[in-house]
Amino acid sequence: MANERARLPGWASAQENYSVTDRAASEKEEGGRARKPRFQQIDREQLFWRMVNVERLIAQDHPARAIWEFVGKLDLSGYTGEIRAVEGMAGRPALNPQLLVSLWVYAYGQGVGSARAIEQLCEWDPAYQWLTGAAAVNAHWLSDFRVQHESALKGLFVQILGLLSADGLITLERVMQDGTKIRASAASDSFRSKERIEQAIEQAQEQVEAVDEMTEEESSRRRTQARERAQRERQERLESALEEFEKLEAEGSVKDKKKTRVSTTDPQARVMKQPDGGFAPSYNVQVNTDATNAVIVAVEVVQAGNDFEQLTPGLDRVEHNLGETPDQVVADGGYVSRDNIVEMKLRGVEFIGPQCDEAGKGKSSYEGRGVSPEYHSSRFVYDATTDSFHCPQGKQLSYEGKEERNSQVSYKYRAAMADCQACPVKAQCCAGNQVTGRSLQRTEELAEVAEFRHKMQTEEARKIYRQRAQIAETPNLWIKAKFGLRQFSVRGLTKVGLEALWACLTYNIRVWIRLRWRREGAVATATA
Ligand code: SF4
Repeated sequence: MANERARLPGWASAQENYSVTDRAASEKEEGGRARKPRFQQIDREQLFWRMVNVERLIAQDHPARAIWEFVGKLDLSGYTGEIRAVEGMAGRPALNPQLLVSLWVYAYGQGVGSARAIEQLCEWDPAYQWLTGAAAVNAHWLSDFRVQHESALKGLFVQILGLLSADGLITLERVMQDGTKIRASAASDSFRSKERIEQAIEQAQEQVEAVDEMTEEESSRRRTQARERAQRERQERLESALEEFEKLEAEGSVKDKKKTRVSTTDPQARVMKQPDGGFAPSYNVQVNTDATNAVIVAVEVVQAGNDFEQLTPGLDRVEHNLGETPDQVVADGGYVSRDNIVEMKLRGVEFIGPQCDEAGKGKSSYEGRGVSPEYHSSRFVYDATTDSFHCPQGKQLSYEGKEERNSQVSYKYRAAMADCQACPVKAQCCAGNQVTGRSLQRTEELAEVAEFRHKMQTEEARKIYRQRAQIAETPNLWIKAKFGLRQFSVRGLTKVGLEALWACLTYNIRVWIRLRWRREGAVATATA
């Protein structure tokens, strides 16, 4: 019986466990004192070889595979023209642009915008190791590659749009335009007046000369070179700031020389209002988004703080990138102007924007000034032959001038001060006017503007406009919140434009991964 029980696995195991526990307890108590348990030691100093199957470092549906596959479809010849290492010739082979593009796209998607960080990640992160084949990648190569191929990168962006368009992800039926402010790589206190910049350039020159004159005893050669380089770079930045100041003067943008400031860190950055109400050195990133799948169809970085003049150039960029004009463009109040409404009409593009509620403005304005309903402007009679108004008391209001604002032209008329001061109903008409007579405006709208206003009162147009925030702001949120691009890591309009392009290009590839590769490509790869 005992032998039979011993053959049963559960019984034998229980006996064994009991014996081990019992023995351990007796050993612990041996000699009347408890013994400490022993653990495996963790040795972080040891060096060892490990077999790594690079292909198996990441899962079949990992986004790094999708990025590699997608970038592999692109024509990268724009990057290969300068490569001197060619087949049959001596010399170290160059890094494949497919790898460098894939690394930057994967890195931006992970919120990594630093070449140095990518270099480190390539040493241990499985996705980066899979991309590189576990080889090292130098941060300088990555850094140069990001900003030294402007036309190739722009060409890549257009190619990607072509692929997404061919895949049915872009229709251009409705395109949203929005601007987002991204902080420049410059501090608010780096802004100086022209006078201060000129003084700083003189000081920088003196310091460079002082470093030149130092003897070897005073400083080692390497340290001297480093100091010289730092001083020279500072001087170049200051000279660039002075050039930017002179450019602003030539444009007529400098109204007060003492108050106008330019950043000595990033001279092309501008102080712009932020969403939180504060002000900071920034760039304005204009993004056009196709409404069908929220694909970015155009991007440009501008120095203007407002968006009024950005609608037409945005449309031009969409046409350039895709060879077609969108049917409809939707933008917020920052883009609604008389010129933009007329221009969109001329181009045959339907413009959807917020409606201007003039009636509401008028009512509150009258209430604020205590004007009785009998003396609202609608009670004044216009005489086209004399281009003047007559008030309910029969006094004339003569033409004073015109004003163009947003989408309309306003003509201003005013009564003689003496008439109003002597008027028995002044308290109901213009009680607050102590030194001038009553004024009113006649607003004249262009047919295009009147049509726009009428359209924007319809429920259909309002419904389309309500989609704007969600679609237009989706890429902005991705770029800032998911990719972490709240501040540029490079300086100057051109480089900043390229960084914005990398982020938008990454965003579009992510859209393709989500809508095409995950549904079709990854499954096919896994089952192959
Ligand atoms: S206050 Fe002037 S504008 Fe108004 S009713 Fe009298 S005269 Fe006319």
